Amino acid sequence: MSIRRHPWVLLIVLALAACATQAPLRPGPPPLTLLISIDGFRSDYLQRGVTPNISALAADGVRAVAMHPSFPSLTFPNHYTLVTGLRPDRSGIVDNTMEDPRKPGVSFSMGKVDVSHDPFWWDEAEPLWVTAERAGIRTATMFWPGSDLPIRGIQPRDWKMYDKKFSADQRVDQVLAWLDRPAAERPRFVTLYFDEVDTWGHSAGPDSAEVNAALTRTDGSVGRLVAGLKARGLFATANLVIVADHGMAPTSGDQVALLEDLLPTADVHAVSLGPVAGFSAMPGHEGEVAKALLAPHPHMTCWRKGDVPARFHYGHNPRVPPFVCLAETGWVIGAKGRGVNKGSHGFDPYDPLMDALFVAHGPAFRRGVVLKAFDNVDVYPLLARLIGVRARPNDGNLADLAAALAP
Ligand code: AMP
Ligand code: ZN
Ligand code: ZN
Repeated sequence: MSIRRHPWVLLIVLALAACATQAPLRPGPPPLTLLISIDGFRSDYLQRGVTPNISALAADGVRAVAMHPSFPSLTFPNHYTLVTGLRPDRSGIVDNTMEDPRKPGVSFSMGKVDVSHDPFWWDEAEPLWVTAERAGIRTATMFWPGSDLPIRGIQPRDWKMYDKKFSADQRVDQVLAWLDRPAAERPRFVTLYFDEVDTWGHSAGPDSAEVNAALTRTDGSVGRLVAGLKARGLFATANLVIVADHGMAPTSGDQVALLEDLLPTADVHAVSLGPVAGFSAMPGHEGEVAKALLAPHPHMTCWRKGDVPARFHYGHNPRVPPFVCLAETGWVIGAKGRGVNKGSHGFDPYDPLMDALFVAHGPAFRRGVVLKAFDNVDVYPLLARLIGVRARPNDGNLADLAAALAP
């Protein structure tokens, strides 16, 4: 049969070719998006050869040379940025430890659940699980800062109260148990959080054998998850996004900028201390405090909140204290009697030691792509796209990740 004699054949062939390039109809379970955070997984840890499962996902999917955390490079602010697309100054979670002029005398910190579970602190932004639940998409969180309280009145359909003692493998098994439900009751957006790499990074330092062992254990839990997804026939349709909140820098008790050496401590109120610190002056001491803090210091720089460098996008939120100080990487801003860890974070988000992991794998992603460095605000529009909800106004830009997406 020649095409010249039967031109309609060509039309049919062209129509079929056009159909093949459209998104194929995917029978079977609706796609699953898994967001996995490995706290404190510095991006170069991936090159240590101790994480075979995560490395295999990266090789068969996407990894970024680095992902820059948002300022300050701390756990709570960055986890909230990842699921809201808003930098901490706009998300409201401006630090692990913070105060708000609207709640005088109250201090938010991660361990103080009577305060930190008050929606007041979180309601400035809307995390993805809230938006998804509103759109009728079932969500489940196997830990994530903000998931253990209602935000804007909504909580994930399934969630767990944070418990550091709940082991990594138990967390994986809980996620798999949720996925064992009939398809209609299965969550379509799931978070999973691992803390061990960060914990050892602090106590033994980023270059320690302990961190490498923690990396291998956590990688084993990721392997357990992948095996569980495969056994359930869910791996081929699942999109996995594996991130960290920040990196880790070596620190030591020999590199401390002591508050006592700067000014009389009675003149100042320290809202937070560490690689990044926030201060307000005690009434009547504004002049002395400004003079002492804003003077040049060998290993730290302080700004009035309105003068924080623009690249940090920080200082407008009422929760940011009047003075913000940032230590040189490797130094900490401390006070007498305060211990110093062997590793810390909170430093300049553009310092390579603060670079965070980004790996993605699944049908939405190309294979074998290495993305150039990007800011972690871009993860939110990516997740919104994967889940199929409209991204709320945010600071990210999906175009930065275009090279990662399958056509
Ligand atoms: P950081 O001090 O910034 O290194 O914070 C890391 C710590 O945050 C981890 O060791 C966890 O114990 C803690 N953490 C993580 N998620 C939560 C949560 N949802 N609630 C309370 N604490 C948490
Ligand atoms: Zn962290
Ligand atoms: Zn940490």
